[in-house]
Amino acid sequence: MASEQHSPARGGQDGPAPDLPAPTAQDVPAPGVPAQGAPAPGAPAPGVPARAPVDLGRVIAEQERIFTERQPESARLAVRARQSLAGGVTSSWQITAPQPVWLSHGRGSKIYDVDGNEYVDLHGGYGAALAGHAHPAIVEAVRGQVALGTHFAQPTEDALVVAGELARRFGQPLWRFANSGTEATMDAVHLMRAVTGRDLIIKVEGCYHGHHDSVQVSVTPDPGEVGPAGKPAQTPASTGIPDAIIRLTLVAGFNDLDSVARLLDEHPGAVAGMIIEPIMMNAGIIHPEPGYLAALRDLLHTHGALLTFDEVKTGLTAGPGGATGLTGVVPDITCLAKSIGGGIAVAAIGGSAEVMEHVANGDYEQVGTFNGNPMAMAAARAMLCEVATPEAYQRIERLRARAVGGLELQIARCGLAAHVVSAGAKGCVVFSSQPVRDYRGFLDIDDRCSQAHWLFQHNGGVFLPPWGKIEQWLISVQHDESDIDRFVANFADFARSIS
Ligand code: PLP
Repeated sequence: MASEQHSPARGGQDGPAPDLPAPTAQDVPAPGVPAQGAPAPGAPAPGVPARAPVDLGRVIAEQERIFTERQPESARLAVRARQSLAGGVTSSWQITAPQPVWLSHGRGSKIYDVDGNEYVDLHGGYGAALAGHAHPAIVEAVRGQVALGTHFAQPTEDALVVAGELARRFGQPLWRFANSGTEATMDAVHLMRAVTGRDLIIKVEGCYHGHHDSVQVSVTPDPGEVGPAGKPAQTPASTGIPDAIIRLTLVAGFNDLDSVARLLDEHPGAVAGMIIEPIMMNAGIIHPEPGYLAALRDLLHTHGALLTFDEVKTGLTAGPGGATGLTGVVPDITCLAKSIGGGIAVAAIGGSAEVMEHVANGDYEQVGTFNGNPMAMAAARAMLCEVATPEAYQRIERLRARAVGGLELQIARCGLAAHVVSAGAKGCVVFSSQPVRDYRGFLDIDDRCSQAHWLFQHNGGVFLPPWGKIEQWLISVQHDESDIDRFVANFADFARSIS
């Protein structure tokens, strides 16, 4: 579950080759990523005797009891909801254990449940609430546009401002809009096929790109399904995906150029392109190794294939220009959604002039009744021009450092086998002393630690994304030091309880 995967699991090359462009300062592991082979911060020091294992099941059961006791009204709504909402929720990703949390409202950095409990919101609506809640610039933009009409299916001038600002940040000259990340990545896959006249695509094991058929392959495969190392199996992520479509999606490992080269050699002239999260954010956070993304683009181009970055999650959150801005690698196609709308549903697909010519000349019809609708464009304009400003990123960076430093201190104090990985406004605790470089490494991690952590934070007034092992926190432009301190204090309680 990408930003909502519910499977219980969710929970290469070694540096650039000599002929590859040198990585930029940012095309390297981010702060908090342990160097290869180094013990993670907080790993027990050599010679320190191992403690008796904590009964995580007991810790989780106790926290679940507190959780449900605090939320009787949510429990009542959950019962009512089962009469009219399938599974009692509006998206399967909202089925959290021990029960869904029904919310009443949000303001600034906080959200409030129907029982009146306040939470520091680090869930951020699965990474969409970079603006925080009820941000004055977003409220004003939406209110103004509502009064002027919410839908015409004709372009408005705000779309020009939004496209221009995205071009500046992400290096793609031409843009189109849609309504969700799923639509954006679906357009990208269609476009790669339209441009090359080829059917096969490559995706990365453990990456989530939305719920259309072509990318519902090997999203959270179980250990028994993954296939041999270096040759991942093509595993359906859901029922309802035809086998004929699954066979069109080849699967490679993250940070593993060789697995991509092998697929390109095995299918000469047949691969349209590859879609990838340039920083994996549906398996905790996994950074690309130095030079990997640039080498991937070159390799694909050598074979006449295209590269798509799915920046739906990393978009404005990893930095002002997403992973593209951090690494300096501009792909052929860029997909954005989530945070670009300031909380309103909007997605964008950007591409090179060559790629987007296939849209401009009508070869590929990129369509949608609500594409570029005026309310979404007004909100996106405010988000880009008034909310996601250089000052906001400086503030987020200060808070990121405070969170990472605070958590690492607690990990070290309690001798937890864990480390912190962050990327701009996003971050997570990985409950392993070893760095994780791909989905296989992620699969090995016990997801009960993340579930226990999620419950501790929740009961302590901090709302992290459910499915803690998969997901990350999001620091919004409206968070402050006291929010981060509450988060770190809860983590300290949690760390003590399991050490
Ligand atoms: N791509 C990535 C990387 C995502 O994390 C997600 C959702 O979590 C999507 C695409 C799909 O976006 P949406 O849920 O808006 O369809």
